[in-house]
Amino acid sequence: MSVLAKYVFVTGGVVSGLGKGVLTASLGCLLRGRGVRVTLQKIDPYLNVDAGTMNPYEHGEVFVTRDGLETDLDIGHYERFLHEELSRANYLTTGQVYWAVIQRERRGDYLGQTVQVIPHITEEIKSRIKGALEATGSDVVVVEVGGTVGDIEGLPYLEAIRQLRDELPREDVAVVHLAYVPILSTTGELKTKPTQHSVKELRATGIQPDFIVARCPTALPLALRKKIALFCDVPTEHVIEDRDLPSIYEVPLALAEEGFDRKLLRRLDLTPGDQDLAAWKDFVRRLRDSERAIRIGIVGKYVELRDAYLSITEALRHAGAALGARVEIAWIPAQRVEEEGEKALAGLQGILVPGGFGERGIAGKVFAADYARRTGLPYFGICLGMQVAVIAFARAVLGWKEANSTEFDPRTPYPVIDLLPEQAGVRAKGGTMRLGEYPAKLQPGTRIHAAYGTDTIGERHRHRYEFNLRFLEAFEGAGLLPCAFSPDGRLVEAVELRDHPWYVAVQFHPEFRSRPLRPHPLFVAFLRACASSSP
Ligand code: GLN
Repeated sequence: MSVLAKYVFVTGGVVSGLGKGVLTASLGCLLRGRGVRVTLQKIDPYLNVDAGTMNPYEHGEVFVTRDGLETDLDIGHYERFLHEELSRANYLTTGQVYWAVIQRERRGDYLGQTVQVIPHITEEIKSRIKGALEATGSDVVVVEVGGTVGDIEGLPYLEAIRQLRDELPREDVAVVHLAYVPILSTTGELKTKPTQHSVKELRATGIQPDFIVARCPTALPLALRKKIALFCDVPTEHVIEDRDLPSIYEVPLALAEEGFDRKLLRRLDLTPGDQDLAAWKDFVRRLRDSERAIRIGIVGKYVELRDAYLSITEALRHAGAALGARVEIAWIPAQRVEEEGEKALAGLQGILVPGGFGERGIAGKVFAADYARRTGLPYFGICLGMQVAVIAFARAVLGWKEANSTEFDPRTPYPVIDLLPEQAGVRAKGGTMRLGEYPAKLQPGTRIHAAYGTDTIGERHRHRYEFNLRFLEAFEGAGLLPCAFSPDGRLVEAVELRDHPWYVAVQFHPEFRSRPLRPHPLFVAFLRACASSSP
C-alpha cells in the first residue's frame, strides 16, 4: 500500500526525441537505488487506445506488459531501468481516457451535466495518475508526458498537472522539464534560447518547472546554467546537464553525478538513502570495454528502423555484457536475402529472426532459417522467427513445398502454422491477439530447458497464429522437436533442432524480460553458442 503520494512530472520541449523516456527511466533507477518505492507512468497523448495498432515505422517497437497491454517502447526502458515488471496501470493514452469518460456518459453517470474536457477529462486523467501509485503500492510516481509542450494533444494533461499542483501540498508535486541546448555549427556556441522559449510555453499553461534538464551535445558550463536559471526562474543547481552519451545506460550515472536524485528527493521532502550504483557501473563498464565481438545477423522487415526491434537489441547487449562480449549487429533486410541469397548472410556467427506481421519479406526469412539449419549456424527465432523456422523445415526436410502459415497462404495444403479456433472468428484488430504472459512447460533434456534451468517458465506473447498440432509427429520424427508446451498441451511454445549446435525458436517474446543486471537466459545461451561458431 502507498504510504505517501508524491508526483514527479516530466515534460519535454523544443523537439521530440530528446530522450524523455530514458530520463524518466533513469530517475526511476536512481530513486529506486535510494530505497524509494517508486513507479513510472507514460502518458501517450494519442487517440489510439493502445500502441497495438500503431505502425512500427513511426513509433518503433510495440512493447507488451505482463498483463497483456500493448504499449509504447518507453515502457520497455522503464522495465529495464527499474528491473521490474510493469502493468496497464503504468501506461495511459488519450484513447483510454476518452473511452472511459464516454462510456460513463452513456451509462448515465453524468446525468444532466455537460461533459467537458475540464473537469471530466482532467478528473479522469488525475484519477489514472493516482491509480498508478495505488496499483503498484508506490510512494512516488514519475509521470512522463509524451510529446512536446505546445502540442494541442498535450493540453488536457498539462491542465491536469496544473490542477494537481494546486490541490496538493507543494512538496508532493515536482515538475522536471527536459529541453534542448544545441550547438550552433557556425560559431560552435551552445544556445539556451530554445530552452527559454519552451519553458515560456510551459509557463503559459500555468506550470512553473522545478528542474530544467538540458540535453546538450557537450558539457554545460556554469555561466549557461546561471543564464537558464535566471530566465526560467529556477535555482542554478536545479539546472541539470544531460549530455549526449555513448549509451543510454550511462544516463543514470551522469544524472547521479549531477546530484539530480538527491536534489529531487529534497524537493519532495524525502530523505535520500544511500545510493549504491556499483553493479550498474560494472554493467556499463562491460558494455563499453568488452573487446571480443560476436557478429549476429538480424533478418527483418523493418531493419532500417532500429527502434522497431529495440528490446531485442537491448537483450543482446545485456547478454553480451554478461559474457564480456560486444554484440555487433548486422541489420539485414529480408528482401535482400530474397535477392542475394547466401551472400546476404555471409560473415555471421548467428542469425536471429524477430517477430513480424504480413507477407512481405517472408521468403527471405524462410531462407535465413533454412540456411542456419543446413550450415549449423546458431539460430534464434522469436515469434514470427519460430513460424518461419517451422515453415522452412516443412519445405526443405519434410518435402512439403507448399507448407505455409495461413497468415500468408490461407489455402496451403500444409497449414503448419494456423489460427486457433478461438482466433478464427476475430475481426477487430485492436487488443485481440494472444497477449501477455502465459506459462509454458519445458521438455527435459532440451537446449531450452538447459538454458532456463527450470521446468516451467512464464513469457509474454503477441501473436495470432500457432504451431499446428496436426503435424507434430511428422516434425518430431524428422528432427524438429517441440520443446515447450502450454500447460494443457494444446500449444507448442518452442521448437528446436535435434541435430544442430543451437537452433531454438520460441513463439513468445523473451526480449521483453531481459534486464541489464539480469540478462535473459535464452539470449545468453544463444550468444554463447554464437561465440563458439566461427564466421
Ligand atoms: N504474425 C505472426 C502471428 O500473428 C507473428 C507475430 C509476431 O511475430 N509477433 O502469429
